[in-house]
Amino acid sequence: MKKVAIVGGGPSGILCAIIASKKYDVTIFCNQEKLGKKILVTGNGKCNLTNLYNFDKAYNREISNYLKSFDNIKTIKFFEEIGLLTYADEDGRIYPISNTANSVLDVLINQVCKNNINVMTNQTVLNVLKKNDGFVIQTQLQEYNFDKVVIAVGSQDSLLKQMGISYNSFSPSLVALKTKEDTFSLSGMRLSNVKAILKGEANHEEYGEVLFKENGLSGICIFNLSAYLARQKNYNSIICLDLLPNLSNDKLKEIFIKRLNKNYTNSKEFMQGLFSEKINSYILKNCAIKNNEKITKKDIEKIINTIKNLTFNIVGHYQNNQVNSGGVDLNNLTNTLEYKYVKNLYFIGEVVDVDGICGGYNLQWSWTSAVIAGEAL
Ligand SMILES: Cc1cc2nc3c(=O)[nH]c(=O)nc-3n(C[C@H](O)[C@H](O)[C@H](O)COP(=O)(O)OP(=O)(O)OC[C@H]3O[C@@H](n4cnc5c(N)ncnc54)[C@H](O)[C@@H]3O)c2cc1C
Repeated sequence: MKKVAIVGGGPSGILCAIIASKKYDVTIFCNQEKLGKKILVTGNGKCNLTNLYNFDKAYNREISNYLKSFDNIKTIKFFEEIGLLTYADEDGRIYPISNTANSVLDVLINQVCKNNINVMTNQTVLNVLKKNDGFVIQTQLQEYNFDKVVIAVGSQDSLLKQMGISYNSFSPSLVALKTKEDTFSLSGMRLSNVKAILKGEANHEEYGEVLFKENGLSGICIFNLSAYLARQKNYNSIICLDLLPNLSNDKLKEIFIKRLNKNYTNSKEFMQGLFSEKINSYILKNCAIKNNEKITKKDIEKIINTIKNLTFNIVGHYQNNQVNSGGVDLNNLTNTLEYKYVKNLYFIGEVVDVDGICGGYNLQWSWTSAVIAGEAL
């Protein structure tokens, strides 16, 4: 029986091993003490394993041909067959019915055991060398011979460098962004139903929740905008928040005029009921209006403009990104994700230059690419 090495024990490596084990003697190499540790932290510990909607807009690359082979519906069915029940939330995000990522890992590990897949944990693959018709895998402990190799190392580039594989540089995506503006007073505040507009080259809009940090912005909306900055490999940009996207400027003006007519002219009272006190104060400060100062008609335009156009200069990103943009370019891989220049060498998952926005799309790429390569081996 031919021998296949899977380098990397994340979601893509594990699923590829399961598929390949139907035909081959499969070994997974993982540099951690357990397989699939990262799965446990996904989706805030619940694992958002795929999505029902919006695949056309989710990725940096056109991958519909790959998705045709193994899409979200096939993913849900596959997991059901191996024992995982799932549900969709109101935005179409798919989670295990148990609401814990442990269940996803459990059903995968069960298949790893049932299919007699060899697991080499705590072994870092330092290099993969082509030798005659096969490959030599060098770890810090030993050398092993294999007929075929699948690289599923995520966004760690040391192995790619060692192997001399060309790739697009990695940059953090789905990550909180640092602002030039001091947002300390707003730290920890959340606003849902915000429209966030990324200005400049990447011009893009997102709706949803924004979370303020000490010197920055976070929340799903911002994470999704960060994907566009990661792809352009430059985080310097401007994000404008429309804090009340469902109210037009005219409607807001009408509301504010009414407030003045009712003599709600004290700035604190004027802003009451719109946002939390901290956010109201931040807006007033932005308009150079003091708390308890008297609001006049000419302040109304300034306040509306700030609410509809709260501007932040983005100067970088925080740590703890969920994924990286970059990796082995799809142009260097065949339709089955085999490296065009080395036969029997495949790349899957995050190490390939395919990245998605929040919502289960990144794991879907892991599942899709794992099945395509696993079946093509
Ligand atoms: C906090 C967080 C939350 C997330 N939530 C979601 C979510 O809900 N939904 C979603 O779709 N995506 C989510 N993601 C993204 C998702 O986890 C990744 O897209 C996915 O894990 C990529 O899978 P992978 O197998 O390609 O790579 P990885 O998961 O990175 O796995 C690579 C594996 O290879 C091992 N490895 C690396 N180098 C070597 C080597 N030289 N030798 C041996 N082993 C090696 C690593 O230790 C690791 O085990 C989240 C990510 C994070 C960090």
